[in-house]
Order: sequence, then C-alpha cells, then structure tokens
Amino acid sequence: MGTVFAIANQKGGVGKTTTAVNVAACIAEAGYDTLLVDVDPQGNATTGLGADRHRPPGLYDVLSGEVEAREAVRSTSVARLSLLASTPDLAAASMELPRVAGAEQRIREALAPLRTDYEYVLLDCPPSLGALTVAALVAADRVIVPVQTEYFALEGLAGLLDTLSLIQRELNPRLTIAGMLLTMHDSRTRLSQDVEREVRRHFPSLVFDTVIPRNVRLGEAPSYGRPVIHHDPHSSGATAYFELAKEVAARA
Ligand code: ADP
Ligand code: MG
Repeated sequence: MGTVFAIANQKGGVGKTTTAVNVAACIAEAGYDTLLVDVDPQGNATTGLGADRHRPPGLYDVLSGEVEAREAVRSTSVARLSLLASTPDLAAASMELPRVAGAEQRIREALAPLRTDYEYVLLDCPPSLGALTVAALVAADRVIVPVQTEYFALEGLAGLLDTLSLIQRELNPRLTIAGMLLTMHDSRTRLSQDVEREVRRHFPSLVFDTVIPRNVRLGEAPSYGRPVIHHDPHSSGATAYFELAKEVAARA
C-alpha cells in the first residue's frame, strides 16, 4: 500500500505545484512507481509535466464516476511517473462538490483502486481551503506545507494548522504533517534568513532540513513541460528537490 502525500497551503504562488511535480519526478527517478494527481482546476501540474489538459480523461471524470481511475491515468515523459490530470471540468467539480453528500470522501474513494499500484501518490492542491482541498486532505496520509520565505509567510499558517487538526479529528485520523518546506529561499537576503529562523523557531521539528532556493531553472522548467531534473539536472533547484525527495520518502 502506497503513501499518499497532499501538498497544501491555501496561499497561491508558494511553490505547491513546483514541489509536487519535482518531488514526484525525483521519487520516480529513484525507482519507485509514483502517481501525481492534479487536484487544482488551474492544471499547472498537468501542463508542467507536458500533458494536454484539454484532453480528457482526468480527475474530474473519475470523481463523477464516468471513468475508472486506472483508465484515466496517463504516463509521462518521466519513467515510473504517472499522472491523473486536471481538465477544465474540474473547476465545476469544486462548485458541485460542496453540495454532494459525503463530498469530503470522494477523492479518497476515487483513488482507492490505485493505492496498490503506486508506492507514492502526490496530490497537488488548489490555493484554497475549499472542497477539493478538504477532499484531498481526507485522502492523504501526510501533508507537505510549502512556505514561501517572504514577509507574510507565517500569516495564514495558523489557520491552515487549525484546519489540519480539524480534518484529523473529524474526518481523517491518519493524517499527519510530513513537514513544512521553505521555498524560494534567497540566502543573500536578510529577509529569507529571518523568515527561515522564525519558521524554524515557531515549528521546531516540523520543518524539513532541505530548503528550496530561488532558482530560475525551477521557474522555467514547466514551460518546457518537464521537471527540473530533466531540464537542468545540475541546477541548484534540481539538487534541492532531490535531497527533499529523500526526506519525504523517509517520512512515508
Ligand atoms: P503554487 O502551486 O503554490 O501556486 P507554484 O509552484 O506554481 O506555486 O509557484 C509559483 C511561481 O513561482 C511559478 O511561476 C513557479 O514556476 C515559480 N517558482 C516556484 N518555486 C520557485 C523557486 N524555488 N525558484 C524560482 N521560481 C519558483
Ligand atoms: Mg499550484
């Protein structure tokens, strides 16, 4: 039975998708069968892996019961990495889901037939605490919280942690925090260093040792439809995500 990791933070632009795509690619490259599920209607993880988000099937078709999960999974340019894509319909699901009874269990149920096929499953969540994110957190065993090393980094984290404990208590007792991940770190700036120190002081033991640097290769890789380890394997971004993948795997 594989371990399911949700990558979540209700803030946009903090590095969720970059982390989901690159950790998934590094784990797959290390030899494990890995599935990336794009739970965000914006479909950045789907296009970032070079897949066509306008070609169904995707997660939406599985959630609506029209397609079997196994049939909706696609292969990617990375060996051992499969993708359950986000198609534009998924935006409708985020509106319909709150009206469906047992909505919070839908992703868990939809992915159940896949759990024995993969050693690692990663869920890239949308930038909200809406129905899709809640359903992803109910389907997950662990959550990874990317935190951008910027001035407002800590803002919203308390709310997110409250939501996580609520979900743990009411809906998914298996859920634990794999870790918080400092992203877009710029070691030349005092601000990055201050934010890192603050986050580590507030959440000792919760923060991954690996810090993701700000790196242009990470920013440009999605426009080529590939993870950074294929775009520029010697970049600082590739090295960092490879180190992080080891830490993540160790917390499965
Ligand atoms: P989220 O999924 O949380 O909205 P993304 O992963 O899409 O965040 O990142 C937001 C933007 O920042 C994207 O354009 C992405 O390519 C870029 N980005 C993310 N992480 C880094 C990084 N470490 N260095 C440089 N650019 C980054
Ligand atoms: Mg994203």
